[in-house]
Amino acid sequence: MIPKVDLPADARIDTLAVREGLPPSPYGENSEALYLTSSFVHPDAATAARRFANEEEAFVYSRFTNPTVMMMERRLAAMEGTGSCIATSSGMAAILITILSLLKSGDHVVCSRGVFGSTIKLFQDFSKYGIECSFVSQTDPTEWRDAMRPNTKLLFAETPNNPLTEVCDIAALAEIAHARGALLLVDNCFCSPALQQPVKFGADLVMHSGTKYLDGQGRVIAGALCGPTDLIESKFVPTMRSAGISLSPFNAWIVLKGMETLSIRLKAQSERALELARWLEAQPAVERVHHPGLDSHPQHALAMRQQSGVGGAVVSFTVKGERAGAWAVVDATKICSITANLGDTKTTITHPSTTSHGRLSEAQRLAAGIPQGLLRVAMGLEDVEDIKADLLRGLSALA
Ligand SMILES: *Cc1c(COP(=O)(O)O)cnc(C)c1O
Repeated sequence: MIPKVDLPADARIDTLAVREGLPPSPYGENSEALYLTSSFVHPDAATAARRFANEEEAFVYSRFTNPTVMMMERRLAAMEGTGSCIATSSGMAAILITILSLLKSGDHVVCSRGVFGSTIKLFQDFSKYGIECSFVSQTDPTEWRDAMRPNTKLLFAETPNNPLTEVCDIAALAEIAHARGALLLVDNCFCSPALQQPVKFGADLVMHSGTKYLDGQGRVIAGALCGPTDLIESKFVPTMRSAGISLSPFNAWIVLKGMETLSIRLKAQSERALELARWLEAQPAVERVHHPGLDSHPQHALAMRQQSGVGGAVVSFTVKGERAGAWAVVDATKICSITANLGDTKTTITHPSTTSHGRLSEAQRLAAGIPQGLLRVAMGLEDVEDIKADLLRGLSALA
């Protein structure tokens, strides 16, 4: 048996974020150890045989079992309130392992048409293997209900979404899924468990791009899928063992240590983002601002209920002048990093139409509500006054 950390059963999320994992090694290290080893040795041939046959729980081979990776998995599962978690090589790999583990030819998926661009692409790619996906409204649960078929196995939601921060009603979608025996998977990348725990609202599975707020400093690519222990052990672990879309222990260690400061980072970044969003609303060159913390956000009340009263750190806004206007604002910045990544302490700015959503057709982009004038800022930890000044340089030329 692999031992557990001795924590009080009612330990709160900020405590779990720092303490959950594995007990220290016999050396008594206080900071979690980084186990860079591809395989583990066994005391004798009979023990090795038992471990390979899953008759005895032990570390065997880092494609599917590694202590540092397990620390990250246990910590994230505890924070999400799920029984288990399986770490993956990227956020996209977390979606891939879900498809490979749960779906087969003839199955059907319902997914918001406002999710991350690569997610849409991945579900579309699986139509060649006989897995169909219907894309529906991010915000209208009726469309989800109407899209349900007898062979619908999975509902996929991302809330708030990228880049518009539109919020979907997790409880309503869970009800629709469960009424037809399907599972609801929520991409919890934008809020993280520090702000939103989808299983509390009825979601069955939660996925993460660890690349974003869990790492929090833009260092590694990582992913994870959280869910009930029986499902993870019976379906996901065998897929991981054969498919090998594993997280490296080094990247797991970065994410593990990142989670210790997740809550304070995300709250501080969200505060700055709301301040920036309010300021943007008052700028003459800005046509529209999207942030769940604004009273003007169409799902403001729902967002506040689902997200612990915090809007998150991502703000998007449409400027005058279409693509040229948007590019002018990007190119006038001196502080913001021009990159499509988010969840970093460094503020990033991106033009979704030509970056994260560049592989979609213009019609798909417009259906997802992403015009050429749209910009997305993922607020970091700089002084918000400096970020306002950085954006004002380009905006004042457009007004
Ligand atoms: C970045 C991102 C992903 C994909 O994660 P990777 O780690 O880049 O593979 C999935 N969903 C959302 C919402 C994201 O922002």
